Amino acid sequence: MQAEIISVGTELLLGEIVDTNAAWLAQQLSPLGVDLYWVSTVGDNQGRLAQVLRRALDRSGLVIVTGGLGPTEDDVTREAIAEALGEEMVVQPELAEHLRCFFAQRGYTMPERNLKQATLIASARALDNPVGTAPGWWVEHQDHILVTMPGVPFEMERMWRDQALPRLRARLGGEIIVTRTFKTVGIGESRAEELVSHLIHSFNPSLATYAKRDGVHLRVAAKAATEAQARAMIADLEARVREVIGPYIYGVDDETLESALGQLFRERGLTLATMESCTGGLLASTITDAPGSSAYFRGGMVAYAIAAKEQWGVDPAIIKEYGVVSPQVAAAMATAARREVGADVGLGITGVAGPDPLDGQPPGTLYLGLDIQGQVDTFSGFYGSERRQVKRVAVLYALGFLRRKLLELEGTVPVDGRLSK
Ligand code: ATP
Repeated sequence: MQAEIISVGTELLLGEIVDTNAAWLAQQLSPLGVDLYWVSTVGDNQGRLAQVLRRALDRSGLVIVTGGLGPTEDDVTREAIAEALGEEMVVQPELAEHLRCFFAQRGYTMPERNLKQATLIASARALDNPVGTAPGWWVEHQDHILVTMPGVPFEMERMWRDQALPRLRARLGGEIIVTRTFKTVGIGESRAEELVSHLIHSFNPSLATYAKRDGVHLRVAAKAATEAQARAMIADLEARVREVIGPYIYGVDDETLESALGQLFRERGLTLATMESCTGGLLASTITDAPGSSAYFRGGMVAYAIAAKEQWGVDPAIIKEYGVVSPQVAAAMATAARREVGADVGLGITGVAGPDPLDGQPPGTLYLGLDIQGQVDTFSGFYGSERRQVKRVAVLYALGFLRRKLLELEGTVPVDGRLSK
């Protein structure tokens, strides 16, 4: 099947927002064996959208539209589809009732203009939107499928997963592809690839490595007649991947490093405190991205200036002797954070975000200190050169270092000599 994506919104054309919906959907299509041939962007203009829709329905078996389903005048996707197909939009009483309830539950009366969100054309079925007001449309027209979903990414993603995808799978039949992504930290892409090189030539299931913002990913994909068969094939390869790279894997698919770490802390009943310098609060911010982080994260200090580090308990003599960007200061920050906040574990970061050198050390220099119930460890590295990238990588390595050391101390994973230097 050939597919086409149409993203609707003048904001997209003006470059005010980036079309992440098309990129996300594109990734969804290849595992289904659907070939994506065209992606178009159209402004909030009914005539031009109808024109693009006619062309898309002419050449593509599957057309996916996102955006323009809101209640306002410039939300014209429904009208444009009706125009392209020559059908009438008709208000559906049950959809209207559902919308009224949506507003009533939030203490509002539904504005009349929202009524157009309760319409369908004869060839459309509604796709439920449990997290917003705009239902989607599943349209079947002369052997072509047109899926219309809201523009707001999380509404669109949920509608796709829960409603469009199962319908599409049922229509496509044939073989399906299932993927599972293993996320690692503390290992570079080439080393990861080297470790799994004996598995990487397998065609089905296949294994590939990708360097991502949150570490190196290993993606396993299996093609089979049923999902259960594909999952069994993946489980087999997963066991072999874990044999060689298991200690570096912190999560699977949508799991994040901060949530995986949070689970470790919760399971062990430990608490955490941070003191960070070059990352300017990004470390604490990332830790608190994990829901439920208040159960273990006690708090953190952004000790940017030397005076702030000293004020929060870093011994001035250590700073004087080793310099502010040093493993000794990182360790002292970890211990001070732990002591000041009263936590089991303290994590300290000092380094040079750049672009200028600091204390004679180049941008990208990074020192991590860790104090786990009095057991102190440090890690030194040199990562990247662009300021925001240095901060981001510093946080990734800090969380990775913390995870690994916690597991090493309890003997769950072997000691990684490269991680304490
Ligand atoms: P709703 O009725 O829920 O507001 P909608 O279908 O009317 O949805 P739009 O008004 O087109 O959606 O877009 C709402 C917001 O969703 C935009 O302001 C933008 O932030 C985001 N959005 C829309 N389309 C895209 C896209 N293609 N990629 C990323 N974000 C998008």
